[in-house]
Amino acid sequence: MNALIDEASFLSKLARINDRIGESCSGCGRSEKNVRLLPITKTFPLEAAEYAKRAGCSAVGENRVHEALDKMRSSSFAMEWELVGHLQSNKAKLAAGRFARIQSIDSVKLLRRLSTALEGQNQSQRILLQVNAGKDPAKFGINPEGADALLEEAMNTSCIEPEGLMTIAPLSDDPSVARRCFARLREIKERLSDRFGIALPELSMGMTADFEVAIEEGSTIVRVGSGLFGERKFT
Ligand SMILES: *Cc1c(COP(=O)(O)O)cnc(C)c1O
Repeated sequence: MNALIDEASFLSKLARINDRIGESCSGCGRSEKNVRLLPITKTFPLEAAEYAKRAGCSAVGENRVHEALDKMRSSSFAMEWELVGHLQSNKAKLAAGRFARIQSIDSVKLLRRLSTALEGQNQSQRILLQVNAGKDPAKFGINPEGADALLEEAMNTSCIEPEGLMTIAPLSDDPSVARRCFARLREIKERLSDRFGIALPELSMGMTADFEVAIEEGSTIVRVGSGLFGERKFT
């Protein structure tokens, strides 16, 4: 676990991030209402999610199943937990039905494992498809060429509700690298939407280092961790 900053420091970071989201939105003529800030509490104690809750956030993101389930178990407040980190298919059963939304669905195999687990629970699961839009070998996500088949599978699975796409931009000092990745994700979403006649309203893209570029390219969910809770020494 990483040490957490005090709540006043969190609140001033949150105000600054919200200001920057507002500036990006007005700079590109978008409404702030269409961009949601998802605080990423991974590696921080449960108090990080409590800070977010008290500040009015109804959802937080986690990247590891066990860490997230531990936090859910010890929390006594209502919170929507979203899984944003890689999900191995052998952990699909653990995750099924426990998260408000799973943003990291990146293979047909994972989707099938998830739906098998959900069938037993008579529950549906909101998901995003994680696409490796930047074709970065260091990143998870289905290749853009595989996204059609994955979406089709999701649409044909009654307990799965696909709501959009998620990506993580390649690490780079050059902001145009992230921009290309985000623009690509938006194009993929538009193509899939047209081809399959499904809305796919959500584009989850942008983190602390690149959320402004992501908003300019159409992001509807920005996932911010260190920008809100401080640097992570441990991952
Ligand atoms: C850690 C993480 C984030 C947040 O990263 P920061 O750079 O700390 O804002 C966003 N998305 C995913 C998938 C992550 O794992």
